[in-house]
Amino acid sequence: MSELQLPPAFLQRIQEQLGPEYQAFISAMSAPAVISLRTNPLKAHPSAEDYVPWHPLAYFLDERPAFVADPLFHAGAYYVQEASSMLLYQMVDWTQDMHILDLCAAPGGKSTLIAGAMSENSVLLANEVIPSRAGVLAENLTRWGHPNVLVSQNEPKVFRDCMDLFDLVVVDAPCSGEGMFRKDPRAIGEWSPEAVTHCAVRQRDILADVVGCVKPGGTLIYSTCTWSQEENEEVIAWLLDEYGEEFEIDVKEMEVDWGAKGVEIRGISDAAHRCWPHHIRGEGLFLCRLRRKGTASSELEREPTARRHRKSRKKGKQPQPAVPHWQAWVDAFLNDPKTLIFSEKNDKIYGYSKPLTAFLQRLPNSLRLIKKGVYLGKLFRKGINPSQELAMSPWLKEGLPSMELTLDQAQAYLKKEDLPQEAPFRSGYLIARYQGVALGWLKGAGHRLKNHYPINWRIRKAL
Ligand code: SAM
Repeated sequence: MSELQLPPAFLQRIQEQLGPEYQAFISAMSAPAVISLRTNPLKAHPSAEDYVPWHPLAYFLDERPAFVADPLFHAGAYYVQEASSMLLYQMVDWTQDMHILDLCAAPGGKSTLIAGAMSENSVLLANEVIPSRAGVLAENLTRWGHPNVLVSQNEPKVFRDCMDLFDLVVVDAPCSGEGMFRKDPRAIGEWSPEAVTHCAVRQRDILADVVGCVKPGGTLIYSTCTWSQEENEEVIAWLLDEYGEEFEIDVKEMEVDWGAKGVEIRGISDAAHRCWPHHIRGEGLFLCRLRRKGTASSELEREPTARRHRKSRKKGKQPQPAVPHWQAWVDAFLNDPKTLIFSEKNDKIYGYSKPLTAFLQRLPNSLRLIKKGVYLGKLFRKGINPSQELAMSPWLKEGLPSMELTLDQAQAYLKKEDLPQEAPFRSGYLIARYQGVALGWLKGAGHRLKNHYPINWRIRKAL
């Protein structure tokens, strides 16, 4: 009998699904959840020995530390993610330049994985429908710091306006959460056979809204963190019934040793993979890759007509835009500003990479973008306040004045306390660092270093 008090109707289903493996499953469910994290390739990251075999930058921990007390956690140097979810890394050729949609993205586990893996010219649009969760997603992606990431807050149906726009669409669908029971026992109380059926209907609706966003030749990845067949292989079978003219299963072989079990769908073995806790060192997951048939036409052919016409009218020499008065500040605070495009709105300065700018022009106005480009700083009477987003970004200029903090100082900083300053007093902005990783801004003011960490990011609980 499991210590988790699992619902009898759930256990009965699992027994039917697993047959002789049922007891092994029950034993695994009484073991603690596996703890793992994935480090950020953009930031200095801690080293480890017990690596997750299917992700080059991830490792297992023996027990769960108090992440909230670790300044590197707040700096986006790593993301705590259960290991099975990281199998997404294996499903994609990340060397290709891609436009990527992560449709159900909060709190950002898969999005940070994608941002950490994608090529320099790729762009990720991370979307979340629930406004409060979209805010958390934007914050996590700001900490992660990849400049080619947009965040939107939209219902899936809005993506019907994004036909053929994405090379890769990830639908990590809301589900009955069976695979999270061990990690988050609150999910057990929300489970019922009716909830499974409700989720399965919603998953089909979501897919119907976004299948058209995948470019011909592009990839659709469907995943859930549940084991039920209704929400997994039956959803894929439905998709093949409805859209089989356009989509086909794209089998991805996995190393047998990893323990993800191949799932047969419509006679195709290993059409998908399911992670069971008695086979893999991770929690529950289902993952399936599909390919949209055909090949995409060239980028130019696919450009919106209005834009093509606008372009063809541009003949001769274009007037050079005036150099903004904050250009010197940009040059002083950013690495390589010549490769970027800048704008000013409501006294705020934003920076955009070229791939992001090009992609933004292709997005319909119906999308509600809540993070667009990198917010760099705010103009005020006497100068410019650099933003937290810049401190988290790889664009932050190397060699800017900075101060390495001890653990106690870094925790005080993250609680938004000012720090004392010893003579010789420094004025102006400096970067607060912990183990070399930027945490945010300090500003010298006599014997004090004023804390510019965002108030809504501060650690509220006692450490
Ligand atoms: N991909 C995320 C990650 O790796 O961190 C986890 C996503 S979670 C499994 C599913 C997400 O879908 C939740 O954030 C939830 O708010 C969102 N969601 C809920 N209802 C939805 C709907 N009707 N359409 C789209 N997304 C929905």
